[in-house]
Amino acid sequence: MVTQAAPAEERSRRHLLDVAGLDWRSLQKLLASAGEMQQLLDAPAGGSDALRGVGVTTLFYEPSTRTRISFEAAAAALGARVTTFSVATSSVGKGESLIDTVRTLEALRTQVIVLRHERAGAPWLAARHFGGSIVNAGDGWHAHPTQALLDLSVLSRHLGDSGGSLAGRRIAIVGDLLHSRVVRSNLHTLTTAGATVVLTGPASLTTGFTEHAASFRGAPGSVQLVASIDEALHNADAVMALRIQRERLTPGEIDSLEAYRAAWGLTSARLAALAPRALVLHPGPMNEGVEIDPDVADGPRSLVLEQVRAGIPMRMAVLQQVVSGARA
Ligand code: ASP
Repeated sequence: MVTQAAPAEERSRRHLLDVAGLDWRSLQKLLASAGEMQQLLDAPAGGSDALRGVGVTTLFYEPSTRTRISFEAAAAALGARVTTFSVATSSVGKGESLIDTVRTLEALRTQVIVLRHERAGAPWLAARHFGGSIVNAGDGWHAHPTQALLDLSVLSRHLGDSGGSLAGRRIAIVGDLLHSRVVRSNLHTLTTAGATVVLTGPASLTTGFTEHAASFRGAPGSVQLVASIDEALHNADAVMALRIQRERLTPGEIDSLEAYRAAWGLTSARLAALAPRALVLHPGPMNEGVEIDPDVADGPRSLVLEQVRAGIPMRMAVLQQVVSGARA
């Protein structure tokens, strides 16, 4: 007998803190929902009233262009009341803590907080003190769930089978793994979708990734860390360059930006020689001429702007899911 939708499962979707716990079925649901959201965006009304009256606040303690704007566009397209919290001009400068801030926002009728914070784990702390929903928009080096979800939607559209699975696909991720919340979240979603992820970067920025390999849902060997970019790009269906996170680098982690480009940059010559068919991704913002050359970023195989565009429908799907989870 088919049972009713499990309320416990619905309730557990009140927040989106991480993608680490999401199985393939949950990812497929979000992909399907993002597809429906895209149809809403493409229709004459350009959205719906599904979140009418719901207060959504973006609370970003770190800079952002794509993530914040696309969350705000997503919330507005669903009819929500959207507020941008400006950390710089708020009472944070007077010492207001994260806990105070989220409680205050709740008293001011915010039901969903989209939180970016420089400290790993901040969204979990916020979730313990907030009666509504927390969506993690990036916490330190730890996780960036919606970036991974939108990357999955793009890769699945281009490389997926009819169910969206990436089984048999090889995705290379190159660069500053150490400081990247994007790679940590993408490892979960891509391996859960069946892909093999081949990681590479300078030894100083890839430390610690070998032990991750065992912990992913995909088949054994679905995460590989290799020492050379040639090996990583060989037979890759897609390659994602990661930003050199200059704000998080400690001296000595890279020799120079020029040397980095020469050894690890996605240049058209390197791609032509090693991965002539591979699609190219970058989560942005790009250091053009460092981890990716401008002609590659703007080239015919680049999905960079498609990634940006995919942010709105996927974030609509996430907002809809957490609000339904809070109502369940
Ligand atoms: N925008 C992404 C992030 O916030 C990637 C990056 O900043 O490099 O993690």
